Amino acid sequence: MLEPLIYELSSPERQGAVLPEPDVPCYELPAALLRDDLPLPEVSQVDVTRHFTRLSQYNMSIDTTLYPLGSCTMKYNPRINEDMARLPGFAMVHPLQDPVTAQGALYLMYQLQMFLAEISGFAVVSLQPAAGAHGEFTGILVMRAYHRDRGDTRRTKMLIPDSAHGTNPASSAMAGLTVVELPSDSRGNVDLDALKTNLDDTVCGLMITNPNTLGMFEEHIEEVVKLVHDAGGLVYGDGANMNALLGIAKPGEIGFDVMHYNLHKTFSTPHGGGGPGSGPVAVAKRLEDFLPGPIVRVKPGSEREEDEAGVPLYEWYTPRKSIGRMRAFSGNFGMHVRAYTYIRVHGEEGLRAVSQNAVLNANYVQARIKHVYPVPQGERHCMHEVVAQGKLDGAPDVRALDIAKRLMDYHFHPPTNYFPLTVPEALMIEPTETESKQTLDQFVDALLAIAGEAKQSPELVKSAPHDTPLRRLDEVRAAKELVLCCRLDPAA
Ligand SMILES: *Cc1c(COP(=O)(O)O)cnc(C)c1O
Repeated sequence: MLEPLIYELSSPERQGAVLPEPDVPCYELPAALLRDDLPLPEVSQVDVTRHFTRLSQYNMSIDTTLYPLGSCTMKYNPRINEDMARLPGFAMVHPLQDPVTAQGALYLMYQLQMFLAEISGFAVVSLQPAAGAHGEFTGILVMRAYHRDRGDTRRTKMLIPDSAHGTNPASSAMAGLTVVELPSDSRGNVDLDALKTNLDDTVCGLMITNPNTLGMFEEHIEEVVKLVHDAGGLVYGDGANMNALLGIAKPGEIGFDVMHYNLHKTFSTPHGGGGPGSGPVAVAKRLEDFLPGPIVRVKPGSEREEDEAGVPLYEWYTPRKSIGRMRAFSGNFGMHVRAYTYIRVHGEEGLRAVSQNAVLNANYVQARIKHVYPVPQGERHCMHEVVAQGKLDGAPDVRALDIAKRLMDYHFHPPTNYFPLTVPEALMIEPTETESKQTLDQFVDALLAIAGEAKQSPELVKSAPHDTPLRRLDEVRAAKELVLCCRLDPAA
């Protein structure tokens, strides 16, 4: 059954809110600003509440089910993050306020910059970008600016492994670079020979995800970094997979020059429909002058002006050769509060435990499924995610998509599928550290049960989902013909 549109609930003269009599003088408005009809639904408050609450229940969310969407790190978002973001001093602060009156907010952003730099071994962080892809674009512009500043204008190529997330080539192309794809070797690493062949003085850099999207730690990462540096290129780290590395390895110390973080993945701020993201960018010392501003710093000399509590003054600054602003104001501040809270609640030991448990959980799933669902890199330990294949012995017609859809009947959000592109029928599973062994067992049991169904009654799997409010959608049409506006007559 399809939920009615809110317009279909409309009944003439029904009201959701009654406005009080005005207690200020009333004025006639210019006639040109007035109109007689406004096609809004006329509904009561209870109709609206029930309508949108029901719609929200159609969604699978991290608050209702395991959401093992590989590479996206859909972990539980602790409620204390929300409590902190709602503190009036944070929620009501205005970006155009005199920074002297917003010192608490600047202090928080300064600390977050420092924490992120410390966690991944970089020199300076800008909190400006609003998402991972936006952070990539920012970081690549910083790399270009660095080369140009040195008069090295021929560097227009970006090398990107074939297992990369689609945003990597997209961001590089948007920044005006030519993308060169590098193959992976049989163990899921970047192919070193292909890398060497492509390195020359036209390379801007290498854009690499580590652990990569096969869930594999690059076994030759130090050599890879050295080869790129020796050729005069820079190394960009896609930090979307930092969930495997917290407190264990620091990309900046491995030699990466730039990296973005996805606060909405690793640092438990809401994702997608749950709100705006945040994709801070970190750089090594030699790139700091090119970062977008404003960035928070301790006001030079203010250590001497500090108040009785010994607190210095914080101020905004924009680096000398900055690529400019990447976003209005100072980034998605509400997300900074949530990520800061997450880091403070966990501390150093806690963050290391996050990654250890994320990796343990993924390996547990790998060990339990790999005899049924082929895992191309199954002879290695995976990091925070495992890439299996929806290709089952004895069920030639059943595909990864069918298995993903059938999982919804078992009340699990499907894993990422058909990505990475290098693995046919990929099912990319990232359980995250926030799941218990009981939940992981239920999920694996569901996967194994589906494998049995695929052999005995493939039609059941191929026509899934059966228990959801909507069945299989025309995904291409849903993406190409977006209906963003709720009207009874969409043409109106
Ligand atoms: C999610 C992701 C991105 C893009 O991040 P967004 O915040 O979704 O823009 C880039 N690379 C990898 C590996 C990712 O998982």
